[in-house]
Amino acid sequence: FAAAGSSKAWAFYDASIDPHRPERLSLMGELREAITQGHLELYYQPKLTLATRHLEGVEALVRWNHPQRGLISPDVFIAMAEDTGNIQHLTRWVLGAAVTQASRWHEQGLNLSMAVNLSAHDLSDVDLPRYLADLTDLHRLPHALLTLEITERAVIGEFESALRVLQQLGEHGFQIAIDDFGVGQSSLSYLHRLPVDELKIDQSFVKHLIDDVDDRVIVRSIVELSHNLGYKVTAEGVEDEGTLHYLSSIACDHAQGFFVARPMQARALHDFVATQIDSSDV
Ligand code: C2E
Ligand code: MG
Ligand code: MG
Ligand code: MG
Repeated sequence: FAAAGSSKAWAFYDASIDPHRPERLSLMGELREAITQGHLELYYQPKLTLATRHLEGVEALVRWNHPQRGLISPDVFIAMAEDTGNIQHLTRWVLGAAVTQASRWHEQGLNLSMAVNLSAHDLSDVDLPRYLADLTDLHRLPHALLTLEITERAVIGEFESALRVLQQLGEHGFQIAIDDFGVGQSSLSYLHRLPVDELKIDQSFVKHLIDDVDDRVIVRSIVELSHNLGYKVTAEGVEDEGTLHYLSSIACDHAQGFFVARPMQARALHDFVATQIDSSDV
């Protein structure tokens, strides 16, 4: 009976989601090394202001340059880092790199905002607001140039403690954006309690809006909702010109997506900015 019982238990065992599975354990050990050995790299995806077609800023997106496996997507290792207690280390590396780059651009006279993604666990880190204030002051980066992106999912779990961390971040003058808006267990009732500055419409509503009237209704409604609540609104996943035009026509504030630009290395951003200036001069 004992044997039958245990084999039944094993039938429910799903290797793919077990953080203690050997392959994942070794990858996590490697992640800790990757951080210290400089194998992580930030890519920056431009964000456009639709009314002027000017570059408003960038979003930092982390990449893992694995010596054997090649480039690993954050969708793979962020969740792992969360499950295995490595996310704080990762987040602080990302914040350090992003703030350093942002302050460099700021010194060069580029007035770009820098957005960084936080994970759910980061919002239970009560030292984060102080840490970020010290970090940005050290690099002389105006706080208003740093945006912290959080998902709805990140807030819902431990609402009261997440709220306190967000309020302190807001009091320091950092911007708060709700990422992937519309796909979480959305409860609008909590939104107005958070110090939100921006909603980012999830790309699933944006990608096909040219061919899908329902998506257009959803996107238009989110733009209106955002403005009524006093938030800026960004559409993610803009992949063609028609979508960009539609978003302009409904007074969406900002756009991000492969049509505007793919995430790029820091040095490539200078060329992107140069082409922007050229095209607005003619
Ligand atoms: P996100 O914050 O919603 O970032 C947008 C993702 O969509 C990025 O994928 C970006 O490359 C991709 N994307 C942008 N425009 C388009 C488009 O037009 N079409 C399509 N198909 N995709 C587009 P990426 O870089 O793989 O990042 C995936 C997710 O991983 C991010 O979603 C974010 O939630 C998370 N992530 C990335 N970097 C970090 C980080 O430093 N810390 C944390 N905690 N999470 C991060
Ligand atoms: Mg984001
Ligand atoms: Mg998103
Ligand atoms: Mg996401």
